[in-house]
Amino acid sequence: MTMWRRPDAEMIAQWGRVRAQLRAEFGEAAFNSWLKPLSLSEVADQSVRVAVPTRFMRDWIDSNYRGRLIELWQQENADIADVEVIVEPSPASTTGPKIAPVKEAEELPLPAAEQVPSREIPVSVEDSAALDPRFTFTNFVVGRSNELAHAAARRVAESNEVPFNPLFLYGGVGLGKTHLMHAMAWHICRRSPDRRVLYMSAEKFMYQFIRALRYKTIMDFKEQFRSVDVLMIDDIQFIAGKDSTQEEFFHTFNALVDRNRQIVISADKSPSDIEGLEERLKSRLGWGLVADIHPTDYELRLGILQSKAEQLDAEIPPKLLEFLAHKITSNVRELEGALNRIVAHTTLVGRPITLETSQEVLHDLLRANDRRVTIDEIQKRVAEHFNIRLADMHSARRARAVARPRQVAMFLSKQLTSRSLPEIGRKFGGRDHTTVMHAVRKIEELRASDSSFNEDVELLRRMLET
Ligand code: ADP
Ligand code: MG
Repeated sequence: MTMWRRPDAEMIAQWGRVRAQLRAEFGEAAFNSWLKPLSLSEVADQSVRVAVPTRFMRDWIDSNYRGRLIELWQQENADIADVEVIVEPSPASTTGPKIAPVKEAEELPLPAAEQVPSREIPVSVEDSAALDPRFTFTNFVVGRSNELAHAAARRVAESNEVPFNPLFLYGGVGLGKTHLMHAMAWHICRRSPDRRVLYMSAEKFMYQFIRALRYKTIMDFKEQFRSVDVLMIDDIQFIAGKDSTQEEFFHTFNALVDRNRQIVISADKSPSDIEGLEERLKSRLGWGLVADIHPTDYELRLGILQSKAEQLDAEIPPKLLEFLAHKITSNVRELEGALNRIVAHTTLVGRPITLETSQEVLHDLLRANDRRVTIDEIQKRVAEHFNIRLADMHSARRARAVARPRQVAMFLSKQLTSRSLPEIGRKFGGRDHTTVMHAVRKIEELRASDSSFNEDVELLRRMLET
């Protein structure tokens, strides 16, 4: 039987860090709508219970955020194996904080955009309060890895026609997709104030869609989207696997294309590589221009650091900027985080930072970047190497030609990341941990018996480690 108790100070501190991480990963809008209302209710030896005020929120968090919540807790506290999301007050709990029951009609939390006080925004549609004023073209540093995406974004922002429809931008986390989209929205609104621009995350799209269904305002919902000149939907991968939302999005998309309105979409993968997206939608998304943003190279990172240091009006030794550009390679968000920390430290301590002190200030970031290879990258590299489709990493196909590479990718995921077997299984199309275990053994056997196979795997590993 699980013995539940009130969280102690240490657990509360861990929860604080988990929350901070969630905020950083999912952004302000999602955080305010869904994650902020979470409270730590009870803990047991291997699990924690977090509480939300409504059933609707519980279901949403369960299906969209719980997996990540568990992973983040495990990073803080290796004992934790599960996170339960409960509606408070729950019958089992008398210790947790009490929250007054909410009436049915009030069950939905307000989306972030409705919580912020309205301010002067140049965009004619409600949701664009979400635009970040720092995300402009002027502040965007162009390098080889993002020049195509940048040029395409500028072209769309600067022309009165619809040069390509849709513009589909894709790339890994923190490489500037949202920045470019906001920059386009700002630019269009300044240039032609009468064009209606609507920027929205796919999550928000889904949220509004569900709300419209619930409150029977679906016609207003449709009208809101059909009346814009430029529609931008960020992180479209979010609606993968959400069938009715996809269907609605598909109709919106077609209606706008028919009227020759501009559509801009972003995602973490190319249309054909997003799992759980209907074929017809995939194909439509690829109709216009598909531009990918590659991981940054050293020059771009240095350029971004110099530009940010200038914006912050901070005197930072060039050697230190070079050091950061070398060391922090994962994404631009972390690079900015490192710079901000250094500037904060300098201001607080009151003396200029040196290369040595910076290593102390940034030790956790530097360490994280030492082991930065992710399962996604492993899958991508291995798929390329064996010349199979990335989708086959997740598919149920068992033909040797795809099953073996998949096993290699599982094996490398076990070796090169700190993910557990069940986590790895989940990343490979929801496979069981025993499947992963079997793959690891199988690859070990093959490496011992087949030297050319062994060389292949070693080669892949070296490529992934550097
Ligand atoms: P994504 O949406 O691709 O995950 P973001 O657009 O949120 O990434 O970018 C993460 C952070 O990095 C933002 O603060 C953004 O301003 C910054 N950034 C990314 N690329 C660049 C760039 N080329 N120049 C300047 N800042 C950048
Ligand atoms: Mg983004």
